[in-house]
Amino acid sequence: MQLIIFGAPGAGKGTMAQNIQKYKQFSHISTGDLFRRHIKEKTDLGKLASDYIEKGLLVPDEVTEKLIRHELDMIRSDFILDGFPRNIPQAEALDRILQDFDIKLTACVHLEIDPEIVIERLVNRMSCQDCGAPYNLVIKKPKVENVCDECGGKLTQRADDNEETIRHRFETYRAETEPLARYYENKGLLMTVNCNEGILTKLDQVWEDLAALED
Ligand code: AMP
Repeated sequence: MQLIIFGAPGAGKGTMAQNIQKYKQFSHISTGDLFRRHIKEKTDLGKLASDYIEKGLLVPDEVTEKLIRHELDMIRSDFILDGFPRNIPQAEALDRILQDFDIKLTACVHLEIDPEIVIERLVNRMSCQDCGAPYNLVIKKPKVENVCDECGGKLTQRADDNEETIRHRFETYRAETEPLARYYENKGLLMTVNCNEGILTKLDQVWEDLAALED
């Protein structure tokens, strides 16, 4: 099964990608995570990407496309693309990459969410720097402040989860990413899920719908 997940920042792309693994094992390819790893390791790509990420802007297409081609070349089995494509040129580039590798997409899952819910969710979002477990200071507090319940690691907040950058990311999403819904609808691949109440309550249904596509 080959999936794309896209949605506004905070809609739950990463949460869905992690939790859907209880139904089937997927390679999870998150461009945001790949960039954050490069930033942490202070690579040239990381230095370039951080300028854009800090401003809530998209990293240039040619950089991101090269990264995805490399990842898909190594994987090719069941995968979830989380955060790519982010605009129509990237979607067209992905079509070319998939054609080169003879891969067919199963579906493109669009996670819909209201903007006010996103801001509230993201300014309170934290995660464990060691195991990646997600927390929220309103709805899923750790038992001990700043300490992961799972592994005892330190909880940190993403540098781009502040209100000003979140607003920019949301504007970027509206202008550049949302048009993907029409693009994939025209290809008969779009599946829309409302995430105002969180993706986890919808996951069984989403999985049932996806599995039906493969029958
Ligand atoms: P995410 O973790 O998906 O929210 O991504 C965090 C940030 O990484 C975004 O706000 C962008 O600056 C950058 N980014 C992630 N994916 C892409 C992409 N496909 N194209 C360009 N920039 C991206």
